[in-house]
Amino acid sequence: MCGIFGYVGKKSSAAKIVFDGLKLLEYRGYDSWGIAIKIKNKFIIEKHVGKIGDAKINLPEGDLGIGHTRWATHGGVTVANAHPHLDCTKSITVVHNGIVENFQEIKDKLVKLGHKFVSETDTEVIPHLIEENLKHIGFASSVRNSFNKLRGLNAIVVANAVSKEIVAAKNGSPLIAGIGSGEFLVSSDIVGIVPHTRNVIFLKDNEMVILGKEIQLISLPTGKKLSIRPEKIDWKFENTSKGKFQDFMIKEIHEQPLIVRNIAKNYSESLKKLANYVQNAKGTFFIGAGTAFHAGLSGTYFFSKIAKKHVNTTVASEFNYLEDFLTKESLVIVLSQSGETIDVVEPVNRAKSKKSKIVAITNSLGSTLYRMADYNVLLNAGPEKAVASTKAYIAKLSVLLMLTFALINKEERAKEILLRTAKEMERLLESKQVLEIKKIAKFLSKTRNIYALGRGASYPSALEAALKIKEVTYIPTEGFPGGELKHGTIALIGHGTPVIVFAPQDETYESIISNAIEIKSRGGVIIGISDRQSSAFDYFISVKDVEEGSYLAQVVVAQLLAYYMAVELKLDPDMPRNLAKSVTVK
Ligand code: GLU
Repeated sequence: MCGIFGYVGKKSSAAKIVFDGLKLLEYRGYDSWGIAIKIKNKFIIEKHVGKIGDAKINLPEGDLGIGHTRWATHGGVTVANAHPHLDCTKSITVVHNGIVENFQEIKDKLVKLGHKFVSETDTEVIPHLIEENLKHIGFASSVRNSFNKLRGLNAIVVANAVSKEIVAAKNGSPLIAGIGSGEFLVSSDIVGIVPHTRNVIFLKDNEMVILGKEIQLISLPTGKKLSIRPEKIDWKFENTSKGKFQDFMIKEIHEQPLIVRNIAKNYSESLKKLANYVQNAKGTFFIGAGTAFHAGLSGTYFFSKIAKKHVNTTVASEFNYLEDFLTKESLVIVLSQSGETIDVVEPVNRAKSKKSKIVAITNSLGSTLYRMADYNVLLNAGPEKAVASTKAYIAKLSVLLMLTFALINKEERAKEILLRTAKEMERLLESKQVLEIKKIAKFLSKTRNIYALGRGASYPSALEAALKIKEVTYIPTEGFPGGELKHGTIALIGHGTPVIVFAPQDETYESIISNAIEIKSRGGVIIGISDRQSSAFDYFISVKDVEEGSYLAQVVVAQLLAYYMAVELKLDPDMPRNLAKSVTVK
């Protein structure tokens, strides 16, 4: 969460460079933003509430600047709380990603020493702490000393207008330094750096980089200089425009058939290798957060049903409390679109300390998880810009389905199913049914709460449908297994309560239809997603039976429902309130 960008060097257009950098990072947080530019020995700051979008800046030019797009944790979304923050002298400025868990304790001490605070953030203690340290030691040591006093997972970029330096330190969120000719950059994402240079350093946790006339890398715990080995980035960065589509979300939904086909055609070999890891492991675990957790849960059903293999799936943030039993023979398969999610990075760190093998299934080359893993499977879904994940989910499901079939040496069968699934997705996206989906979306967008129901491998589909609707429409939606209905939720069903029911042709069909009838008898309105019509359905969207591929295709309908509901409600489906694409705070 939060985008950080900094520039120091020979150009005098730092304000524009930082502003353009922030625009590329806005997906990381978009409640407010700000930029600080060095003018003589002080910083001038411009801050705004809201998205950068098409904003213009009114800053003088300079050769040193830092900026931030915020995802508020401490303190409301106000101009005063937006970053960068200043010390009392206005010559030190800080942008921050994370949470300073002991900020109150530090703040109390600093207030006693006479420091004046103007925001409610945890971040503001950092420039003042550095200012305090500067009375005794040099700039870089002050940053190091101050950073080491912060508890929690943090990344900071500090600029000093007097020494004309930027220092970046991290323990948690990503930071990448770019080495240009006569200039240095720092960014939370490589996409911000590559327009300037392809010579980069991915900062490791507990490292600090000093950027000024030259570059130095320092160990945060020891203060010792580390040798610098820049990496040359030769990856291609894809075009991310909306093209003919109105929003990224709908564009990304439409990209799914192509992604499924790519995985079907090109992943046999790498998934065969991964299947070997699974066969040799004593205990396999899937972990993921949000949508990625739902993908992992689908994998559990695939593994059991197709490969007769048990796998544990856990919400990543809970894995921290469940991993005492990991050994060096365990295999932890992490699922994450961004490869940065702190809720996943943290348990992976612990699993690594137990020497368990780590496999990352991510969409981001070079991301933190990518770099931590012993083995990587890249989704190759292309940049996913909409905050609500769609194509990365379908890509993960495709990979997991193929991996499952690889476990029983039937990759060809998986390939054939996935190719038919891609075709069915295309039909769904182009058929007249989109009109029906829009009609249902109109109805749903006027309701107060929605339920989604599935059994077996459709249970994760129900969870994912509910999450998509919640994310982009803010309408409370709950997904649950059909069997749980009678254990509580049925009490909430009244006249007109909408319930989305996933009823593919599998062993769950009869039971889920019975559940639908139970709901209908109590006045519920059933939206059936199935390969066949049923008298239980009030609305019906047909998804052809493509065997296990049905669990992918049926989710496309839910994605479309969520998207068209957001459009109906005149909400921004790409940047929903309170969310951010890359979740890097706990
Ligand atoms: N905790 C800080 C704040 O609330 C940083 C948030 C962020 O990572 O954007 O301002």
